[in-house]
Amino acid sequence: MNVNQHSSHPDHDPFGLSAFSDGLYIGGAWRPAAGEGRIEVIDPSTEAIIAAVPDATLADAAAAVEAAASAAESWRETPPRKRSEILRRCFELMVERSEMLAGLISLENGKALRDARGEVAYAAEFFRWNAEEAVRISGEFGIAPAGGNRIVVDYQPIGICVLITPWNFPAAMATRKIAPALAAGCTVILKPASETPLTAYALAALYEEAGVPPGVVNVMTTSTPGPVIAEMLGDPRVRKLSFTGSTGVGRTLLAEAAKNVISCSMELGGNAPFIVFDDADIDAAIEGLMVAKMRNAGEACTAANRIYVQSGIHGAFAEKFTRRMAALRVGPGVDPDTECGPMITRKAVEKIERLVADAISRGARPLCGGRTLAGGGFFYPPTVLVDVPPASDMGCEEIFGPVAPLYRFETEAEVIAAANDTEYGLAAYIYTRDIGRGMRVASKVEAGMIALNRGLVSDPAAPFGGVKQSGLGREGGQHHGIAEFMEAKYIATSF
Ligand code: NAP
Repeated sequence: MNVNQHSSHPDHDPFGLSAFSDGLYIGGAWRPAAGEGRIEVIDPSTEAIIAAVPDATLADAAAAVEAAASAAESWRETPPRKRSEILRRCFELMVERSEMLAGLISLENGKALRDARGEVAYAAEFFRWNAEEAVRISGEFGIAPAGGNRIVVDYQPIGICVLITPWNFPAAMATRKIAPALAAGCTVILKPASETPLTAYALAALYEEAGVPPGVVNVMTTSTPGPVIAEMLGDPRVRKLSFTGSTGVGRTLLAEAAKNVISCSMELGGNAPFIVFDDADIDAAIEGLMVAKMRNAGEACTAANRIYVQSGIHGAFAEKFTRRMAALRVGPGVDPDTECGPMITRKAVEKIERLVADAISRGARPLCGGRTLAGGGFFYPPTVLVDVPPASDMGCEEIFGPVAPLYRFETEAEVIAAANDTEYGLAAYIYTRDIGRGMRVASKVEAGMIALNRGLVSDPAAPFGGVKQSGLGREGGQHHGIAEFMEAKYIATSF
């Protein structure tokens, strides 16, 4: 199906692609791109082409900035209560359409329908949370220590924002940026990942229906993100870049943003340690690990990437965990029985193959999986490896797939040092029944987010983000998420 060759019959267009058939979403209208190019969208479960979306050029980038600029003043002057109600409506429409959106995410991303449903609920929640936050933005008032002078601090929308998102959470990574930006009073241009643009466009149609005025949210796909984003960042009216993606691209964008001294929020890669002490509840730890490792088939920045199990329970843990992994049903994302969908691309499978081959060549042993599945689609089976040498490539790189390397450790000090031996610092997981030890280790592990006896950290009400090379800034949380889209203005006065 090409989004330009649609049928209006719902059976032939279950995802409502016809609503956004004609292009980029700029200034509240669906416009063809200035160039002729199209970007094909592939179903990772079948390798079939499911759609083709427009390929924005530099002229389109300039038009998007113009649209965002035209809408900026009236949106920042829109009363917070009104902005809040529009955001709330976005939440309600996402909930109403959750099955359709989950199906679309599964189709273009490949993730299991159950994961896609979870993503839609999580993504919608950013609208509800920020609808509530939009009416609670306040300033500060103080008296200068010397007396007399008064310090007034007003928080103002930062300006036009460029938002760039990855393919692994096509809905949630977009709403985690759009909702707080709109709550703060900013207008935005979203560039979703080329692999999963359909969800972003489906959501754009929904925002319009919710009453988001033309130009407040603009969405554009491009196969040349470097120059297209540089064009936008080169416009002095753009004041914010919020990026989620790999650390490598994040570094490139930080350099680009530096040219105009643009404020940057960076949600980058991870290499999460998952630490299980001897005294942990093994069943609970395995349950948590199944979530931390296998949500999205391992294609998550927070995915457990290095699993450290204390020597006293290592054997029993490996055995039980392997049974759970081997029993997972692998299949197309859209199949409701699937527990582990395909990887996003052939290239992603090849990276996993390389990491597994490297570990095995250094002495690691697969307890299940370890070989690419034959047939079409970008499938890789759930895999457990033991005796993985820490110096293996998979100890340093994001696996981004359903591969769980187990490492053995003896002492608390040893595992803290091992957990911190990485340039990343996004999430970390700790399982122990000793809450004192849990808190002590949590304070020493270098990560922006710690899950203590939990397999999931993400929550729109909590600040999400990393330290070290995992990023700059936070998304979500009581004030953190919106603060990224605001600028403090200090007014000195006396009376
Ligand atoms: P990616 O290759 O860095 O791409 C992310 C986005 O950046 C895509 O929209 C991509 O567009 C765009 N992009 C690529 N090169 C660019 C350039 N030179 N200038 C401007 N934009 C550019 O990452 P990915 O493979 O999509 O996503 C996986 C990565 O994201 C992993 O490292 C994961 O850990 C990270 N991630 C982090 C978080 C977090 O919250 N910390 C959450 C999710 C994912 P194209 O698609 O057109 O290339």
